[in-house]
Amino acid sequence: MSEYDVVVVGAGPGGSTAAKSCAEEGLNVLIVEKRQEIGAPVRCAEGVSKSELASLVEIKKRWIAAEVAGAKVYSPDNTVITLSAEQAGNEVGYILERKIFDRWLAKQAAKAGADILVKTAAIGIEKDGEALKIKLRRAGEFFDVTAKIVIGADGVESRVGKWMGIDTTLKLNEIESCVQYLMTGLDEKYDMDYCHFWLGHSRCPGGYIWLFPKGNGSANFGIGVMPSMAKETAKYYLDRFLEAEGIGMSKVVEVVAGGVPVSPMEKISTERCLLVGDAARHADPITGGGIINAMRGGKIAGKVAAEAVRKNDFSARFLSRYDKLCKEDFGKTLERNKILQKKILKMKDETLNNLAKSLEGYRMEDMSVTGIVKELIKRNPKIFWDLKSLFL
Ligand SMILES: Cc1cc2nc3c(=O)[nH]c(=O)nc-3n(C[C@H](O)[C@H](O)[C@H](O)COP(=O)(O)OP(=O)(O)OC[C@H]3O[C@@H](n4cnc5c(N)ncnc54)[C@H](O)[C@@H]3O)c2cc1C
Repeated sequence: MSEYDVVVVGAGPGGSTAAKSCAEEGLNVLIVEKRQEIGAPVRCAEGVSKSELASLVEIKKRWIAAEVAGAKVYSPDNTVITLSAEQAGNEVGYILERKIFDRWLAKQAAKAGADILVKTAAIGIEKDGEALKIKLRRAGEFFDVTAKIVIGADGVESRVGKWMGIDTTLKLNEIESCVQYLMTGLDEKYDMDYCHFWLGHSRCPGGYIWLFPKGNGSANFGIGVMPSMAKETAKYYLDRFLEAEGIGMSKVVEVVAGGVPVSPMEKISTERCLLVGDAARHADPITGGGIINAMRGGKIAGKVAAEAVRKNDFSARFLSRYDKLCKEDFGKTLERNKILQKKILKMKDETLNNLAKSLEGYRMEDMSVTGIVKELIKRNPKIFWDLKSLFL
């Protein structure tokens, strides 16, 4: 088949969820994925909130690598704040096996009726009368399919937006540059029932270091730094940290590098086009987490695409309801967290130490960013006076 209602570019969590949502609405939908294998290589630390994931899909044991009991956050002087499951209810997380999870999501889309082509890259889009001509390349062969709407779920390096006239260029202060090692034998040094986060501009400028356990003593150990603030590469800062922790590089079994967009975009749709997930910059500016919002946006995109097909209206004006629905669902939180991120980026390590000390001994009831910030505001009203109305 070469004529579709919708072509989805990219089979990450955003693309597969969007395709499933389109297919469930009765649309003919094709997903194209440039990699030969969906879900690999993984460019993710794979952490998600249990409750948020459960609100989107039925949880399957086979794609959960580990379940954590809480989180330990280390300030620059290593003051530790422990957020425990007992206190945190259902807010603590799963560490996924994304190689399995992404593939499972794609299969769900196929089950609902979506066609899938792997090793097939979208290389351009042309307006072709009353439709779009999506230009594809598969194993050296070039061919086209037509679609009424394209959903760009092509991740942080998205081209779909640009082809359709949306400026998706990321500035150096709008992205976190990340590198991550999958390491083994870490249970001798770290409590693997917890995720660990290290903060501090001197050790990770404009970002943080993470350890997310994956079971059997292995974990994703990674770093994100903001290129506009870092003098060296992300790898430099991670290696320096691991050396200081006394961890040998012989324990590394996989290396991944990638970027996370951490600055929401004003416009995520235009005539015949919707952007989803990292392509729409829907990752959280504070945590860098983007899996859940990619899936939420994908679900909404499928519904809006179906309405457009039913009404035969593919105008920018009609499709802008997608922007509005995303904003109502999670976009306001992204904007608010962007304001918080800008404030934190200006704080000195000394201030971060004092903030951590202000939370020492506190029984954290809510492990979300909002919960932590609410408590920080209550304990440090002078520092956070400008955020009071946004969080309390
Ligand atoms: C190091 C690192 C750690 C992270 N850790 C976390 C975490 O712990 N938790 C979390 O929630 N988020 C995390 N993220 C962010 C998370 O990975 C993304 O937000 C999430 O994958 C976004 O999903 P997506 O579907 O929008 O895009 P992606 O998962 O990036 O999928 C995009 C897909 O599009 C395909 N594609 C691109 N261009 C084309 C083309 N032209 N034609 C066809 N296919 C194309 C790509 O091959 C890819 O498969 C992390 C990111 C990085 C880099």
